[in-house]
Amino acid sequence: MSSGSASLMWFRKGLRLHDNPALAYASRGSEFMYPVFVIDPHYMKPDPTAFSPGSTRSGLNRIRFLLESLADLDHSLRKVGSKLLVLKGNPCDVLVRCLKEWDVKKLCLEYDTEPYYQGLDSTVKDYASAAGIEVFSPVSHTLFNPADIIQKNGGKPPLSYQSFLKVAGQPSWASSPLVFELSSVPPVGDLGKCEISEVPTLKELGYRDNEQTDWTPFRGGESEALKRLEEVISDKEWVANFEKPKGDPSAFVKPATTVLSPYLKFGCLSSRYFYQCLQDVYKNVKEHTSPPVSLVGQLLWRDFFYTVAFATPNFDRMNGNKICKQIPWNTDDQLLTAWREARTGYPWIDASMVQLHKWGWMHHLSRHCVACFLTRGDLFIHWEKGRDIFERLLIDSDWAINNGNWLWLSCSSFFYQYNRIYSPISFGKKYDPNGNFIRHFLPVLRDMPKEYIYEPWTAPLSIQTKAKCIIGKDYPKPVVSHDSASKECKRKLAEAYALNKRLNGNVSDEDLRNLR
Ligand code: FAD
Repeated sequence: MSSGSASLMWFRKGLRLHDNPALAYASRGSEFMYPVFVIDPHYMKPDPTAFSPGSTRSGLNRIRFLLESLADLDHSLRKVGSKLLVLKGNPCDVLVRCLKEWDVKKLCLEYDTEPYYQGLDSTVKDYASAAGIEVFSPVSHTLFNPADIIQKNGGKPPLSYQSFLKVAGQPSWASSPLVFELSSVPPVGDLGKCEISEVPTLKELGYRDNEQTDWTPFRGGESEALKRLEEVISDKEWVANFEKPKGDPSAFVKPATTVLSPYLKFGCLSSRYFYQCLQDVYKNVKEHTSPPVSLVGQLLWRDFFYTVAFATPNFDRMNGNKICKQIPWNTDDQLLTAWREARTGYPWIDASMVQLHKWGWMHHLSRHCVACFLTRGDLFIHWEKGRDIFERLLIDSDWAINNGNWLWLSCSSFFYQYNRIYSPISFGKKYDPNGNFIRHFLPVLRDMPKEYIYEPWTAPLSIQTKAKCIIGKDYPKPVVSHDSASKECKRKLAEAYALNKRLNGNVSDEDLRNLR
């Protein structure tokens, strides 16, 4: 037990020292500070039955990214006279034990809008309040407090980006510079009986050395995030002219966007600091792009989805979700597995899925293409199935953003132009006629001439033989014909939309069964 006044800083996201109001508050006025991270088995425990290495909820790439981020955080804390205390177990039980054992007077944690953390946090906060512990839980993961936007909008979330922008205005903190760095923090007090460990290795978490051979090229941690941000903002012209969805999704030597998403996901980078840096660039250039296409516009998309997700019951499913069209999606495990395992026979789709497995990251337009292909474009499979696979494999996997974008891409919410379907053949060809992206991620097609690389099944057998890739043997034939499958998808969506309109969204399971 600690003899002086002690605070506990509970890290979950927000794995950084810069612009971290919860950490700054925990450091202030306490004799001791306990910086804690809890290894949650729900998230980290190996699952040997999962379709790829990792836990039930996360692929190994993201777990490694997290461990690297924790090691970096520990290193930074040590530089200011502290260290990260890693504990294992159910976070509620662990936290309550620590609060008691260390006689904590102040509990600080970044506010988290995700349902899983809402559940955990209310239990821990209830305990703390009953025990007379001060709780400080500021919003610092997003530019805005989603609750403020919802209140300003009359208790409902704005359901379009433009209405979100109107309600949101400028972030209130943006008029004064953010607190960037902490110079020193109180030392860690006596640890008593709590079992503390160093940041574990993958092996210590129970993963085998050789479980994964292809690792993401992106390293976790605040230091890496700030380095990457520095590189981005040093190219003022690029920042000023950034315009999405322009940009080449097939660029893999130097991706066409910032790849800051995994750092924002874990809070290794503050989105507010990113925003402030972008505003500084904008002030020093003659012209710059604006939302929705600019880089600031991208951060606002993030806040938009956070806000809608926070206020929408059952945001992560079709059933019981008021903003989601009810659509009679198919269940076809074979087709789903072919998509997941990069065996659809469409090289642009498959190469993008290989990139997801290997890098845990894909360009935004590649995500569009594969999500459209799985759902409303070709396979007519439920968006929740694709969402689950993304959720597990992305290193930037983010509950609000991932669900929001799957709702969008499947034409279930936000976007309703179901006639606009991405071609799995011509879309990629527009950017990369030689098929370099495909050759890189699908080496089996390395020697296929460029005339056939997007449709290898059309290559004469002599060409397939010369390219050492026989279609149907070395690489699959297309699982569906895009022309007929996309027509059928449009027909089914037209029917489902008509039913949703007729029944005003109150579509029952039986109505959906009748449409199938
Ligand atoms: P940049 O273009 O450099 O943008 C900067 C930041 O803005 C991003 O890091 C991200 O935080 C935010 N941002 C950009 N685009 C969007 C968007 N459409 N919606 C919300 N925020 C955005 N992004 C995630 O961070 N996590 C996810 O789990 C995720 N799942 C997605 C699923 C699907 C089906 C689709 C179509 C998109 C998904 N996105 C997700 C959004 C987007 O594709 C990524 O944020 C972006 O590609 C990340 O690369 P970047 O950091 O280089 O982006």
